[in-house]
Amino acid sequence: MERKIIGLLVLVALLAACNGKSKIEADILIVNGEVYDGIEAMSQSLSIAIKGDTIVWVGHQNDKEVVAVKTIDAKGLIVSPGFIDPHTHATNDLDNSEHSHNKPFLFQGVTTVTVGNDGSSPYPLAEYRDKCQELGVGTNVVTLVGHGTIRKQVMGESDREASKEELVKMQQLMQQELNAGAFGMSTGLFYAPGSYSTTDEVVALAEVVAKNNGIYDTHMRDESTYSIGLIPAVQETIEIGERANIPVHISHIKCLGVDVWKQSDSIIKIVEEAQDKGIHVTANQYPYNASATSLKAAVVPRWAESGGKDSLLIRFNDTGLKSKILEQTQTNIARRGGPEKLLIIQAPDTLLQGKNLLEIAQDLKKKPEEAVFDILKLGYIKIASFNMNPYDIENFMVQPWVVTGSDGGSGHPRKYGTFPYKYRKFVKEDNVLDLASFINQSSSKTAKILKLPKRGTLQEGNYADIIIFDPNAFTDKANYLDAFQLSEGLIYSIINGKLSIEEGEFTEKLNGRMLKK
Ligand SMILES: [Zn+2]
Repeated sequence: MERKIIGLLVLVALLAACNGKSKIEADILIVNGEVYDGIEAMSQSLSIAIKGDTIVWVGHQNDKEVVAVKTIDAKGLIVSPGFIDPHTHATNDLDNSEHSHNKPFLFQGVTTVTVGNDGSSPYPLAEYRDKCQELGVGTNVVTLVGHGTIRKQVMGESDREASKEELVKMQQLMQQELNAGAFGMSTGLFYAPGSYSTTDEVVALAEVVAKNNGIYDTHMRDESTYSIGLIPAVQETIEIGERANIPVHISHIKCLGVDVWKQSDSIIKIVEEAQDKGIHVTANQYPYNASATSLKAAVVPRWAESGGKDSLLIRFNDTGLKSKILEQTQTNIARRGGPEKLLIIQAPDTLLQGKNLLEIAQDLKKKPEEAVFDILKLGYIKIASFNMNPYDIENFMVQPWVVTGSDGGSGHPRKYGTFPYKYRKFVKEDNVLDLASFINQSSSKTAKILKLPKRGTLQEGNYADIIIFDPNAFTDKANYLDAFQLSEGLIYSIINGKLSIEEGEFTEKLNGRMLKK
């Protein structure tokens, strides 16, 4: 009897093979969707089978018999690799049990976020990773090592050059943090204490990262005319890439302020020349015309804050220095387009939120530069600074080496809206990009830049990070006055083969992983 059954099974298998068909078992089967695989310029009508955490089959529906536990009919919907965000400020959400779901990003279609950007990372990384993994995370997480964080460990807030011994110590700490699974290093050369470092110091650390096959991600020394200027800052980045033999990635590329508007053409040329020489240069960009940063970083002269906030206030109360500080603060406000272009989006006194610096100055009956120091005494103030030109935004956006990155942190709508906003405005409304370019810039290209294997494309053998969205309904809801609205129109999100969003609702499952290089 048993032999008969086996014989029958062999016969069925043979027949199936003759048919060109074989049966596969899957946990989830996605059918009837318009599939963008992350690489091709066109969509195809394909089916995708998932087993465990892996895509086990991609093909035409009738080519294979798939027996699935669950079938998703994606008719009329877009199927895409989950988006990968190379620059976020989700660090403090992910190790907090109330926020580790990472919903602001999840609902945008993001399945992997990066943390540790702008030169600032959780330290020590191994401890942070363990804590997040224990809590469970809603998306995958890529980590970078912050140069500023390492520098602070060795030199505090000091504004001097590193000694030889300090540099060696920093290199050791860099290696320690890379060993904990980081994908590369980040710098925030605009911010203290990164701004105090020389190019040589950064190169010495980037060399350690290069030996580990990591990447260099940077918030450049200047995105405007604060110190060395935007174009020299791009040149410094390229120099670091060339000297340390490391791929360099410019974060949130932009022309910040009227002084540097329309410099995108020159920057694109400089980057292309470097690429022709074999230097690997890429960038990420958020699609908004306002940046967000701290009021202090935006308008207070950097020398005045050396040593931290207390030192700043002491200098400000020194009559010899006060007028110089005020004068330079006024220049910095003008560089950003004037006090009416600086909108307070986060402050200890919530009455300040939603007002611009001009309105606050009028309330206080003071000059804007004086009002700055009145409100800085209250604590951390975050601003949206309307300082970008649509010409530069679109010019960068269409470059093949520029990918989507939210820079998402509290208060700016980009944390909740970047990816759907870019889709709504730049794909659907303004036709700056086609849908495939938008998807490729938000998935496979980013995976390649981060050197993240087996993610970012819908291919057999890859991890099943897949999103399904309604092309008519996928949209951002967050704006500057209400920055905390989840995006809409994402119908499914599958992370590591498990459903995180089903029929538009969060499944309450934390399917992300702390990824390790
Ligand atoms: Zn930044």
